[in-house]
Amino acid sequence: MIIVMEARASKSEIRSVLEKIKELGYTPHTIHGKTRKVIGAIGDERGKFVLQSLESLPGVERVVPILKPYKLASKEVKPERTVIRIAPGVTVGDRQLLIIAGPCSVESEQQMVDTARAVKAAGAHVLRGGAFKPRTSPYAFQGLAEKGLKILRAAGDKAGMPVVTEVMNPIDVELIADYSDILQVGARNVQNFALLKRIGKSKRPILLKRGMMTTITEFLMSAEYCMSEGSRQVILCERGIRTFEDATRNTLDLSAVPVLRERTHLPVIVDPSHGTGHAAYVAPMSYAAVAAGADGLLIEVHPRPEKALSDGPQSLTFEKFREMMQMLSGFVSAAGRTV
Ligand code: PEP
Ligand code: MN
Repeated sequence: MIIVMEARASKSEIRSVLEKIKELGYTPHTIHGKTRKVIGAIGDERGKFVLQSLESLPGVERVVPILKPYKLASKEVKPERTVIRIAPGVTVGDRQLLIIAGPCSVESEQQMVDTARAVKAAGAHVLRGGAFKPRTSPYAFQGLAEKGLKILRAAGDKAGMPVVTEVMNPIDVELIADYSDILQVGARNVQNFALLKRIGKSKRPILLKRGMMTTITEFLMSAEYCMSEGSRQVILCERGIRTFEDATRNTLDLSAVPVLRERTHLPVIVDPSHGTGHAAYVAPMSYAAVAAGADGLLIEVHPRPEKALSDGPQSLTFEKFREMMQMLSGFVSAAGRTV
C-alpha cells in the first residue's frame, strides 16, 4: 500500500503513521517526493486491507494499493526518476549519460592504468574491471581476486575515476565495498537472492545486470530484493538475453529500455558488449541504446583485445572506443542529453 501524506502533514503526524504501519506488521519506507512524503507499507500482501484504516489518521490524504508485484522499484511509489550520485560530479539517472568503460577482467597494473587513462581521455566517467569472474568453465581465468581489487582501485584513483567491479558471493560484499564505488551483480547472479539481500544492505550503489533468462518483471523483482533491504541506489543494466539467434552472443533487448523507464524510477543503462559479443556491433548498439532512452552505457575496452584473458572478441581497442565516443555525441544531443 502507498500512504500519500498531505503536503502540509507535520513531522509528528508522519511519525505516528510510521508507528502504526509497524504495529500492523508492515515495514514503512518513506519516499521523499517534490511536494509531499509518500510512505510505502511493504509486507505480506494477504492482509494488506488492514492498512486502509490509516486513511483516518491526521495528515493522511489517501491510502492506495500498489498494483505491481515490485513496490519500491515501481513508478507507482515514486514517480520522479531516481538520480544516483556515484562520486563528486558523476551521477546517473539525470540528463548526463553515464559511461562506464574498462576491460572485462583486471589482468595487470599496466593494463588498468593504461585503460583508465585512455577511457577517461575519451570521455568515460567510471572505470570497470572484474576481479572475481563468473566463468562458464572452472578452468578459465577466474580473476585476480583481492589483488585485482587493489589494482582497479589504484588505477581509478590515479585517473580520478570511480570504479565498479562484480561481487559474486555474499561473504565478499564488505571486502569489495572497501575498494569499489559501485557493486555489480552479474547476469548469472540476478536471482541469487542471498546475494541481493546482502548487497541491498550496503551503502554502495548497485549495478544490477539483467539475467539472460529473466523477464523484465523478474528483473524488477530482483531490484526489489535489494531495495527491500534498504538500498535506494540500484542501477539496472540490460545486457542481452538468450534467444534462438546465434549471430550475436546474446540478443540485446533494447525494448527493455522504454519498458523499464515506464515501470520504474531507477536508472537504466545498456551493455552492448555482452549484449552482442562482437566489437563490431558495440558502437551501433550504443547509439541505438541512447536513442531508446538509456541513462548510460557499459563498454568493455582492452589495450589489446586479442590478448585479453576474458571477453576479447567483444572488447574495443582504445582507438575504437575513442571513435565511438566521438560519434556518440550526436546521438546524445539528439536524445536531449549530455555526455
Ligand atoms: C561482465 O560485466 O564482465 C559480466 C560478466 O557481465 P554479465 O554478468 O552481464 O555476463
Ligand atoms: Mn565480460
